[in-house]
Amino acid sequence: MNAYLHYFGLETFRLSVWLVLLAVVFVPLERLLALHPAPIWRRQVGVDLAWYFLNSLFPAFVIGVPIAVLVRALQGANPFGIYAWEATWPLWVKLPLMFFVNDFGSYWAHRATHKLPFLWRFHAVHHSAEHMDWLVNTRAHPVDIVFTRLVGMGLIYVTGLAQATGHRLDNSVAWVTIAGTMWAFFIHANVRLRLGILEWLVATPAFHHWHHTRREHQDRNFAAIFPIFDFVFGTAWLPREWPVEYGTDTKVPATLVGQLVDPVLGGEPPPAPPS
Ligand SMILES: [Zn+2]
Ligand SMILES: [Zn+2]
Repeated sequence: MNAYLHYFGLETFRLSVWLVLLAVVFVPLERLLALHPAPIWRRQVGVDLAWYFLNSLFPAFVIGVPIAVLVRALQGANPFGIYAWEATWPLWVKLPLMFFVNDFGSYWAHRATHKLPFLWRFHAVHHSAEHMDWLVNTRAHPVDIVFTRLVGMGLIYVTGLAQATGHRLDNSVAWVTIAGTMWAFFIHANVRLRLGILEWLVATPAFHHWHHTRREHQDRNFAAIFPIFDFVFGTAWLPREWPVEYGTDTKVPATLVGQLVDPVLGGEPPPAPPS
């Protein structure tokens, strides 16, 4: 028990340091390039801060189990000799491919959370934010995070880009997740930054802000890093202007407990996915 308390104490401290570092980057950036005027201490900032700690601590625990099961199931497998061949590839070749494969899996998982009422129940929490800023990234139900990450990470292992070595999981998969999370803070940020042709290559605030629109053009821009998936699968929307209103018509409680418990209880009739 003591060991657990010690671990959580240490993790909470580590996460607090990360939070300060993120704030040091994003608070001035959002002051400098504000897209919409917004106070730093805006509505529901406490809820989002609580989500930050909760989601940084718990999903990793939960995801570890199914990934370990998957890795064990794949251990020793070598379909058509591909896994053995991939194992010889240098990291600088494998890492970009890991990002790509992870984003492909996440794209479809994310799209599923918009289409299937059971999953939308959980994902609607993320879309309940009516103002966009970097901290909105943390507002997500753990079930939503676990589902989307599991599909992306699982695909990295299934494709053989990461493989079990002994009892340890592949560190590079953790790096893909960490870098992806950092980028996710950026694309939610309240910044009027446009990156020209780069916006077609990598997800930007404009790209992801449109994913959060409350009005027309919902169900677009599901990719977290590579917009190419949305272009290829017909869900991209990237005009010059920005959305004027964010949020969802699905009713989502304003409190942390409500957002956590409501989708699990599912007492109300399943909320309709947008569009
Ligand atoms: Zn979404
Ligand atoms: Zn988002």
